[in-house]
Amino acid sequence: MKYYSTNHQAPEATLEQAVVKGLAPDRGLYMPERIKQLPASFYEHIQEMSFQQIACQVADAFFGEDIPADTLHRLVNDTLSFETPLVPVSEGIDSLELFHGPTSAFKDVGARFMARLLGYFTGRQGQRQVNVLVATSGDTGSAVANGFLGVEGIHVYVLYPKGLVSDIQEMQFTTLGRNITAVEVDGTFDDCQRLVKSAFMDEDLNRQLYLTSANSINVARFLPQAFYYFNAYAQWKRRAGQTAPDYGRDRLVICVPSGNFGNITAGLFAWEMGLPVKRFIAANNRNDIFLKYLQSGHYDPRPSVATLANAMDVGDPSNFARVMALYGDHATVCRHVSGAAYNDEQIAETIRQVWQQHRYLLDPHGACGYRALQEHLQPGESGIFLETAHPAKFKHTVEAIIGEPVALPERLAAFMRGQKQSVAMSADFAAFKRYLSTEAH
Ligand SMILES: *Cc1c(COP(=O)(O)O)cnc(C)c1O
Repeated sequence: MKYYSTNHQAPEATLEQAVVKGLAPDRGLYMPERIKQLPASFYEHIQEMSFQQIACQVADAFFGEDIPADTLHRLVNDTLSFETPLVPVSEGIDSLELFHGPTSAFKDVGARFMARLLGYFTGRQGQRQVNVLVATSGDTGSAVANGFLGVEGIHVYVLYPKGLVSDIQEMQFTTLGRNITAVEVDGTFDDCQRLVKSAFMDEDLNRQLYLTSANSINVARFLPQAFYYFNAYAQWKRRAGQTAPDYGRDRLVICVPSGNFGNITAGLFAWEMGLPVKRFIAANNRNDIFLKYLQSGHYDPRPSVATLANAMDVGDPSNFARVMALYGDHATVCRHVSGAAYNDEQIAETIRQVWQQHRYLLDPHGACGYRALQEHLQPGESGIFLETAHPAKFKHTVEAIIGEPVALPERLAAFMRGQKQSVAMSADFAAFKRYLSTEAH
């Protein structure tokens, strides 16, 4: 399968090139040239299949031309070491819980798959070590570090701003050891990002070392997110006791709390592959650039504002380019996706109300998704929202809202018992370059 750039100014790439490069040379995002439909028999029997079986069939459609089936299925099975249960919350609304992976957030799926695919490509060529550089303000670093943990031939350097990430985020990437090094930068997130960008542009370093990124726009992080949309549908259909392949097309609404729009775009890919869904809703926080686009037809990026749902604080969603590549124009986008946006008071009110009435604890991101369904579902429709993180990841915020303590699940508590190890670094590129030249190989 060939991958084209959304800016159409770069040559087509193979899967391997798209994964290793991440961003196309013209700064566009890679898109597969075709989206394959899955056969009616798949949708007829999906409720009888396991998550891993479903994901292997979806992976075959995306990657089957480029990776031998047995290898691909091993990568998929290794990636999906956890379930994504569909849990009823209130009448007609279910939560697709994507927080049962190592770092308790949905980014685990994409990060784990990308790590394994990159490991496959580099191992196959008998190549020298690949060094993944990632700058993080918190959550991306933990998903990438845990996703790549123990993958042979790859070393990950996580750059994070000293004192500016939460304790629990910091422990998720500083306690791992092995092939993960945490670099604690005396500066801001922007400084971390500048160090990483400078390293990618530095000719000396790139001659000496094999450097790559694990950015969320990478096709190997983005496409596997489609897996759990199919798994959600399988569970929903199983519960309804339905067998018709088309069941859902006239009633199922999927709502995705969105920031960079990678997660929802993977859902739209699933829909293009024939997943029987009626419509999608993108739920935003106060960073409502997409909702404004739906209303006005103008895409006006603006600086992000800080909210309780901070992983969605994005002022220029990078995957908007993929949504446009998929649908082409404003009217078509509006036919497929609607929008909603909520401020911090509404997020808090939703968390409190759902906890009091249904004893289900939402995280601030999932709260936007739930509320959009609660307000916009029409008679006869059923809704699924993606619960993108465990509420305990936002322990202090959620405790203040419900006025009760929130326990850390064992997986998160285990990180807190680890031993923090980091390399102190100034925000000066010369120092970082010296460090990489001597430490990395
Ligand atoms: C990253 C993230 C989002 C936003 O996902 P996008 O793919 O960027 O739209 C939502 N919720 C949580 C918890 C996240 O970490």
